[in-house]
Amino acid sequence: MTHIAVLGSTNMDLIAYVAKAPQRGETVTGREFRTLPGGKGANQAVAAARAGADNVSMIGAVGADAFGTQLRSTLEHSGVDTDLLRTVDTAATGTAHIVVDDEGGNAIIVIPGANGTLTALAPGDEGLIASADTLLLQLEIPVEGVLAAAQAARRHGVRTILTPAPAQPLPPELLAATDLLVPNEHEAAALTGITEPRAAAKALLAQVPEVVVTLGARGSLYAARGAEPVLVEAPQVTAVDTTGAGDTFVGTLAVALAEGRSVPKALAWASTAAALSVQRPGAAASMPYRSEIDTAANGAAS
Ligand code: ADP
Repeated sequence: MTHIAVLGSTNMDLIAYVAKAPQRGETVTGREFRTLPGGKGANQAVAAARAGADNVSMIGAVGADAFGTQLRSTLEHSGVDTDLLRTVDTAATGTAHIVVDDEGGNAIIVIPGANGTLTALAPGDEGLIASADTLLLQLEIPVEGVLAAAQAARRHGVRTILTPAPAQPLPPELLAATDLLVPNEHEAAALTGITEPRAAAKALLAQVPEVVVTLGARGSLYAARGAEPVLVEAPQVTAVDTTGAGDTFVGTLAVALAEGRSVPKALAWASTAAALSVQRPGAAASMPYRSEIDTAANGAAS
């Protein structure tokens, strides 16, 4: 039985497609509007569920509003347990207001809303974390909440995987309670001040025992104490939308590690999943199911 717990954000992405984004004081007519479930926490939960975890539990918060109801039901339909996804009446469900122009550029306002209430663990959270194999964490909720969860996981010997996004300075206690840190190359550079990923990964090993730096189409770099970093190449594919690639990668990686696969095998499987996701539009919508990952992985091996 693999059990993945996720503590993190649940957002509704509100996307306006327009030829050219408006300037201050200007009104423009856009072409299309879409709402898409998002938030790095919820995305990683969906990725883990689709990758075939026996049990995925989401700890988070939504508002007492229509987006909250919709996000809860989307998670449940994806097979994610939402018993510890609380509905708060003090804040609206988190939203990301995204303007995408015809050149593919975007401007985004994130309003954390209910996600911002996750400053501490609530009754039941620690028991759930204790029963999981792995706890997935990101930084779209207050860092105090992330730290409390990481320390609870550490108390119970549960593996913690932290995605340090959006990039921000991290309290040393959080890194001390992290088993595997998975920054992308920009986040790795922000955390260390070192732009070369190999050197950044090595520097991060001073604070965490294992690091995976994701490098987009170039793959990922695995580093552990006492060994030289290893590059895991990504399958060569034609990307149409890389949103959520990192979340697919982490959610799938967590499942593979919880199943007891070796790190190189787990990384190869996560790379296959992430490569599938970038060939389809959307974040959670593009995440592959276990059978698809296995088929693609076998195809690559034969
Ligand atoms: P993030 O989405 O967090 O910015 P990356 O862009 O580094 O992270 O992507 C995460 C992982 O997704 C990569 O390590 C890689 O395995 C996969 N990936 C991303 N872009 C591509 C691509 N164009 N082709 C194949 N795999 C990709």
